[in-house]
This record gives sequence, C-alpha cells and structure tokens, in this order.
Amino acid sequence: MTDCLFCKMAAGEIKPDVVYEDERLLGFRDIHPQAPLHVLIIPKRHVANLNDLEDSLLGGWMLQAAAKIAAQLGYAETGYRTVINCNDDGGQTVHHLHLHLLAGRPMTWPPG
Ligand code: AMP
Ligand code: ZN
Repeated sequence: MTDCLFCKMAAGEIKPDVVYEDERLLGFRDIHPQAPLHVLIIPKRHVANLNDLEDSLLGGWMLQAAAKIAAQLGYAETGYRTVINCNDDGGQTVHHLHLHLLAGRPMTWPPG
C-alpha cells in the first residue's frame, strides 16, 4: 500500500530502529515507547488489521518473533506483554497489522 507508514518501513523507504528482521516480518522500536522495551512487529506485506489476517501461520510467526526478541533482549524470564489493537475501540491508530511487545516494567491489568 503506497500510503501506509508501516509498508514504507517494510520497503526501506522510512528507516525505523530495527531490532528483528526475517523474510516475512520486521520488528522495530516504537517511537513513543510505553515501557523500557516497546517493539512493534509487522508483516512486510500489508494486512490492515487482525480482521484481515487470513494467514494463520503469519499470526504464529508474529508471536514467535515476539518471544524471540524478548529472549534475545533479556526479558524472557522477567516477562513481557503482547498486544494487538484492532480498529477504533481497540485503539488502533496505524492501519497496518502490528503486534506490540512491551517489557521492562510490571504491567497492570485490566489495560486502559
Ligand atoms: P496502535 O495504536 O496499536 O495502532 O499503535 C501504533 C503505534 O505506532 C503507536 O504505539 C505509535 O507510537 C507507533 N508509531 C507511529 N509512528 C511511528 C514511527 N514512525 N516509528 C515507530 N513507531 C511509530
Ligand atoms: Zn501497510
């Protein structure tokens, strides 16, 4: 999608602070971090949101990438949270599917 911020990152037109990359996914630091570690994991191909995720393997790869990044950066044992916001009530502001990986502080429940 030409007008999509995260597609531009996947295409290398905008350079985020990348912490993970494979053939399908890109993981980069959130520009407004909500925890000491706040990474966004996106599919390189455009999927607008979780409603449009037809490829169940892609969802699994995104979750596995989150666990890998957390382990590599030393948060596997202390713990972390993964979040996918979908559409308005979910709080989605960028309409390219992304998984938030948050770590480095105790999380509260329920989320706001
Ligand atoms: P969401 O509200 O779930 O759609 O999350 C979108 C996330 O993208 C927010 O946490 C933003 O801080 C983050 N974000 C927006 N623009 C950028 C950017 N240029 N680089 C990194 N993260 C961004
Ligand atoms: Zn996109």
